[in-house]
Amino acid sequence: MKIAFIGLGNMGGGMAANLVKAGHEVVAYDLSEEALARAEGHGAARAGSAAEAVKDAEAVVTMLPAGEHVRSVYLKEVAPNAPKGALMIDCSTIDVATAKEVGETLRGLGFESVDAPVSGGIAAANGGTLTFMVGGSEEGFERARPVLEAMGKAVIHAGEAGAGQAAKIVNNMLLAVTMAGTCEAFVLAQKLGLNPQTFYDISSKASGQSWSMTSYSPVPGVGPETPADRDYEGGFMAQLMLKDLKLAMAAAEEAGAYTPMGGEAAELYQRFVERGGGTKDFSALIKMIDDSWVAPD
Ligand code: NAD
Repeated sequence: MKIAFIGLGNMGGGMAANLVKAGHEVVAYDLSEEALARAEGHGAARAGSAAEAVKDAEAVVTMLPAGEHVRSVYLKEVAPNAPKGALMIDCSTIDVATAKEVGETLRGLGFESVDAPVSGGIAAANGGTLTFMVGGSEEGFERARPVLEAMGKAVIHAGEAGAGQAAKIVNNMLLAVTMAGTCEAFVLAQKLGLNPQTFYDISSKASGQSWSMTSYSPVPGVGPETPADRDYEGGFMAQLMLKDLKLAMAAAEEAGAYTPMGGEAAELYQRFVERGGGTKDFSALIKMIDDSWVAPD
């Protein structure tokens, strides 16, 4: 399939490379010359603008920073230049309201459109093992599925337009809440004299367990290998978690949902990012919860 790929950053670079590997003809565009050169190195053709990239595209995939980029790229550059009927797949994490609005506008102009944000970080983007949460019609989902399968291990239909974004930010809000809770539980356990490994052995098999505890322990040397074992490098950056929490809080306000735990997690991550933790893995929150916390030998 002829696919235009716009936004070849940390995530999009690897995703576009996997589309090429799967045999698709990829035309790439990014504002960054360096990102474009990397995509070319992976076998994509280079376009001079987003408008040029989508000229003959059967599908357009975008992986952009935020809602304002998605709105402007689709409405100003993609829609006026792409062939009618082309399939638009936005994989960026953006606010639900913009996802719905842009999707609706695109469908009104005669395109098929789905929102398909991802779970999984840069390693999953490079390795083709992302999980896609797709919002859109049944037909849009079925058209997008083979494209997304070339970049991921799971492609799930979340519901109508915007439902992919909703699933993504609600899941990440829950993840932030369980991680914050897991961090404070480890700190309290240690202050009460419990060995962190012993607490892990008990809690990971008891009712307090969650993915944050069992698969992504914030304590170095406890549980399977995680970013905690690499001084919280790699993994999912705290500043991206904060971005998703802000999107979740905005969506909650718009929907009139009461989300006190999500709000608390958003405040904690805001403080952590302000203190310079933004590029650390989100599990490094444990350092802020107890500055005196010392990793076990
Ligand atoms: P990034 O900043 O590395 O990449 C974004 C790219 O978009 C950049 O290369 C930038 O030059 C390009 N861009 C911006 N405006 C453009 C425009 N108008 N035209 C063409 N290119 C443009 O970001 P990323 O880490 O790749 O994240 C992309 C999206 O994926 C974000 O929405 C993010 O929330 C989401 N996400 C990221 C991760 C992660 O671990 N990095 C995980 C899941 C989801």
